[in-house]
Amino acid sequence: MSIPGADDPVDGHGARPPRVVIIGSGFAGFHTAKSLARRMRGAVEIVVVSPTNYFLYLPLLPEVAGGILEPRRIAVALSDALPSCVRHAPGEVDDIDLDGREIGWLDPEGVQHRMSYDRLVLTAGSVHKVMPVPGINQYAVGFRGVPEALYLRDHLIRQIDLAAMCDDPRERAARCTFVVVGAGYTGTEVAAQGQLFTRALARSRGLDPDEMRWVLVSRGEVLAGLDAHLSRTADAVLRKRGLEVHTHETMEEATEEGVLLSSGERLPTRTLLWCVGVRADPLIESLDIAVDGGRVVVHETLQVPGRPELYACGDAAAVPDPSRPGEYTAMTAQHAVRQGALAGRNLAASLGHGSARPYRHRDLGFVVDLGGFHAAAAPLHVPLTGLPAKVVTRAYHLAAMPGNRLRTAADWALEAVQPRQSAQLGLVRSPAVPLDTASPEVPQHHLGFPHASGPN
Ligand SMILES: Cc1cc2nc3c(=O)[nH]c(=O)nc-3n(C[C@H](O)[C@H](O)[C@H](O)COP(=O)(O)OP(=O)(O)OC[C@H]3O[C@@H](n4cnc5c(N)ncnc54)[C@H](O)[C@@H]3O)c2cc1C
Repeated sequence: MSIPGADDPVDGHGARPPRVVIIGSGFAGFHTAKSLARRMRGAVEIVVVSPTNYFLYLPLLPEVAGGILEPRRIAVALSDALPSCVRHAPGEVDDIDLDGREIGWLDPEGVQHRMSYDRLVLTAGSVHKVMPVPGINQYAVGFRGVPEALYLRDHLIRQIDLAAMCDDPRERAARCTFVVVGAGYTGTEVAAQGQLFTRALARSRGLDPDEMRWVLVSRGEVLAGLDAHLSRTADAVLRKRGLEVHTHETMEEATEEGVLLSSGERLPTRTLLWCVGVRADPLIESLDIAVDGGRVVVHETLQVPGRPELYACGDAAAVPDPSRPGEYTAMTAQHAVRQGALAGRNLAASLGHGSARPYRHRDLGFVVDLGGFHAAAAPLHVPLTGLPAKVVTRAYHLAAMPGNRLRTAADWALEAVQPRQSAQLGLVRSPAVPLDTASPEVPQHHLGFPHASGPN
């Protein structure tokens, strides 16, 4: 498939309306397209280039791995949620000619395309931050998309199925031990949801749920850097539930047998999840523009210095944080949404519609779902725990999702009255979820614990 007219020569300001190309359909890209389309009312051509034809609501991804939500609930089709004037070019941008104002993109069938632009928006998000820890590329999996969530869900089911049939107590203990490194919201929520899921699976397979050992390893506190109330609550809930929380510790090595912690403790395991931070998408590094910590440096209007036709926001951009002078905004969905909306406004202004504004924000607080009846929330910095926090958390997510709300709410309602589904479909093989997407030299057939890969 190709975008009609996308490969046409362009005269910049000829008969056709200006073309705005947005790289990425995540929080920032999606909201840029939505805001721009609303303001321009057809007086612009908007093309979103993205490998997926959906917007992924990442905060609920742990619930997919935990068997609560089906993946399509949090994957909202762009064609359903964006105005019809926004077109989707399925593929990945692999070349940007800033001087020639042209991008190159590869579609899913391997066909290369080129497309000119009048304005370009860099919203390619972020990728895993991989540290030089021996063995992680071979034995750890990350958690950033639908393939990882489906892989993990199947992997957890497989470990419990195999543990239930295993006579060797050491192997059984390893299969029932799950190690998560990194206690940001990804690691914390995956561990919280995963533990409840494996306990439910254990019960259904005749195993003792207390045999399920979840270990959360973190250099800092749980949810460090977010609200202090959230951090304390999450830590207390997880420990009370039997999760082993190892703060101020690191993982030193991963081997076929398990992992070694900085305390010297060795944990035999078949499951290692790497949730240690993110860095801006490597596409950014290939450009001849100023970056800071891998993120594109932008003015507070989200424009790239010296390139007024180029905008960046979300995780990929180093946006000055007005509430913390000298620092950049954190890599969060909240910022990405608001920056996307502002990018749409400022792009429209640059095309003669309305006026531009600098990035300003008011922190609305955070919510963290810890599974079951537990959550920690601080809406507008009012600390909540337990059921009230759970209600606020779910209401927040439903309000923030751009679609599929009813289906998501229906899954939640079903979860309350039905056991989680535990069929292992095995559709995603471990080579499909490499941790280091920027390192093609990683031997793919070694990814994941060999014992864990099985026939899938
Ligand atoms: C599991 C998980 C849970 C999270 N939970 C929370 C939470 O509870 N609260 C919170 O505030 N934040 C949370 N975050 C962080 C939040 O999701 C990110 O800050 C947010 O997604 C950033 O938005 P973005 O648009 O910059 O990037 P993304 O949402 O990552 O979108 C990037 C887009 O760019 C596309 N792309 C990448 N490279 C290319 C290319 N070369 N060509 C074309 N397209 C490309 C991607 O496919 C994707 O569509 C979570 C993150 C994860 C992974």
